Amino acid sequence: MSQRRVIPLTPMAAPVRLPENGKRFHVWTIGCQMNEADSAKIAATLQEAGYAPTTHEEEADIVVLNSCVVRQAAEDKVSGKLNSLIRLKRERPEISVVLTGCMVTNQQEKLRQRFPHVDLFFDPSDFGKLAEIVPEISAFSDDLAELPHYYADPQAPTSAISAFVPIIYGCNFLCSYCIVPYRRGKERSRPLVEIVAEVERLVAGGVREVTLLGQTVNAWGHDLPDAPNLADLLRAVDAVPGLSRLRFLTSHPKYMSDEIIQTMADLPTVCEHMNLPVQAGDNEVLRRMRRTYTRDYWLDRIQLTRNLMADVTVATDIIVGFPGETEEQFQQTYDLLAEARCEKVHLAMYSPRPGTLSARWEDDIPAEEKHRRHQELERLQERIQTEVHATKLGRTYEVLVEGRSKGRWTGRTRGNTLLHFDDPRELTGTLVDVRVTKTSPWYLMGEAVSDPR
Ligand code: SAH
Ligand code: SF4
Repeated sequence: MSQRRVIPLTPMAAPVRLPENGKRFHVWTIGCQMNEADSAKIAATLQEAGYAPTTHEEEADIVVLNSCVVRQAAEDKVSGKLNSLIRLKRERPEISVVLTGCMVTNQQEKLRQRFPHVDLFFDPSDFGKLAEIVPEISAFSDDLAELPHYYADPQAPTSAISAFVPIIYGCNFLCSYCIVPYRRGKERSRPLVEIVAEVERLVAGGVREVTLLGQTVNAWGHDLPDAPNLADLLRAVDAVPGLSRLRFLTSHPKYMSDEIIQTMADLPTVCEHMNLPVQAGDNEVLRRMRRTYTRDYWLDRIQLTRNLMADVTVATDIIVGFPGETEEQFQQTYDLLAEARCEKVHLAMYSPRPGTLSARWEDDIPAEEKHRRHQELERLQERIQTEVHATKLGRTYEVLVEGRSKGRWTGRTRGNTLLHFDDPRELTGTLVDVRVTKTSPWYLMGEAVSDPR
């Protein structure tokens, strides 16, 4: 059994909201959940400053683009979006265009030359910089840290049910293909009391599900006084009254300790879902990726999780076509996925990122071959997910209803599987037990067998 630590909590004051000033903001986001959380915080900050949201960028007084450069395709989308704003800025020079996210480097002079129509570039860890073009923020800049990474969009009521809470910024790994550590810096954990206070505030506002975020979320705490760990934090957040579900991502296999896995199994709010990227199934490729673990180690972590938690689902990430990946090495990845039978796999084709170690190596797998490997794994996963989901037929799962989609209620099980069902009642934001009547590789269908709660 894991050791318990008691950490005192202190209440926090809510920041002051300034009156509406008639100005409007628009936030455009691409990339990972961390970007979504940062965008929510930006939206919340602008709302506190008296701005109102608009879905139309041409009506906005401030347009914020939150960028991702983890792969070339994402970077191309950001460049395209930035270029599309040139015309808007020409027509309405008074609007402010802001760029944040992983495209922002510390060589801002280069960015200014490339995108002269952008008024402000800011590093995602430096929200306060927004005050340079939104002076109203200075009125509450001392309270900025206390604003949740959460924004209930009046046009999307489902956003009030589930929230992301970043708990650790940056990354101390140097995976040879990855740009993230260069853009997000070293790991910085947020203090436990700050995180718990944020969760308490979210739950008081009606949020039922919280996902703790970090590039290496399970490394949380090592840089804090007394070096608490994620298991301590999970216990503290689990204890917040009114919270229904707790998730966390993304974990690094190296830090997925027995204690964390046991704590996941012990705590009632922690969902039976583990997101544990493996990236490749061949030890030599893993070594050249600088992932610091072997294929067997990852499998062992998955096995322990499955032994301790009935019905747990597993998600992972894979990169195909890494420099020098031979057919045999690719086959190792194929075999690993066939053995692990994950419920969800995020597949990516290798994309060299300038400045990273692997970008110095030849990108020698041709695009068609990367596509072929990608498709082979897609087909394998479709088969596995068909089979795994078929075993769920006739069983009952608790669903947190997020809203309606294509005329049906839709939500996720604790295992993070999409489940759709028909019901005449208003169910948004409720927990309902649903019996599965039909399965597909991507989602389940069912019928409600309980009252909403
Ligand atoms: N911190 C997480 C992942 C962060 S990046 C981890 O350690 O796994 C999100 C995903 O993007 C990665 O899991 C990887 O599969 C993919 N990715 C990152 N860099 C990439 C690159 N250069 N080419 C292709 N995919 C990449
Ligand atoms: Fe990138 Fe590796 Fe850090 Fe994940 S652990 S963010 S893949 S460097």
